[in-house]
Amino acid sequence: AMAQAKKIIVGHDTNFMPFEFKDPDSGKYVGFDIDMWTLIAESLGIEYELQPMDFNGLIPALQSGNIDAAIAGMTIKSEREKVVDFAYPYYDAGLMILVRSDNEDIKNLEDLEGKVVATKLGTTSEDFVKKNAKAKDVSLFPNIDGAYMELATGGAEAVLFDSPAVMYYAQTAGKGKAKVVGPLYMGQSYGIAFPAGSELREKVTIEILNLMESGKYAELYKKWFGTEP
Ligand code: GLN
Repeated sequence: AMAQAKKIIVGHDTNFMPFEFKDPDSGKYVGFDIDMWTLIAESLGIEYELQPMDFNGLIPALQSGNIDAAIAGMTIKSEREKVVDFAYPYYDAGLMILVRSDNEDIKNLEDLEGKVVATKLGTTSEDFVKKNAKAKDVSLFPNIDGAYMELATGGAEAVLFDSPAVMYYAQTAGKGKAKVVGPLYMGQSYGIAFPAGSELREKVTIEILNLMESGKYAELYKKWFGTEP
């Protein structure tokens, strides 16, 4: 007899546009990560349940075994690789600065000196700003919308965050209010994370490579980012 397939729990961020966010019409989570995971799970015959949570809680949840995988535009970095296992990198990004549309004096990292910078708690941006910007203060929010709001209301002079997220915001909800300035900082790749030693990691890596080789990855990329990968 066939063993009963176990339903796994896949944690994801509540709000990391356009990788994952709640569609206001359907109330369902949509985005690049969700679509990519759907294809991977279909192909591997995995039964799963999605579990949205604050980004900052994903790694602890993997470590405690409360979730079996995390897909959240999560940057692969040494400190995390020590405690979780990442599948093959699926997206290349970096960090960028977002300012209000009428701001003329912030053009790069050096210009953040003495300024209040807002970003998201527990992310590579928090590390990067604290290490590399001589900011007066770093305001941290569990959800990046809090940082965008802080920028809009004048509580912060800049937001520094993942390039695809700030570019998406500047073209959608932030259009006319905020703009992206300066170069791309700290190149980084995103990976799906698993509890250390998970047997799923290699299977998922193979599926990611299949998606890239078959052109399905490019289709998804075009759908969510509007360009070729
Ligand atoms: N890529 C960033 C990180 O891993 C932010 C991810 C996110 O906010 N979902 O720290």
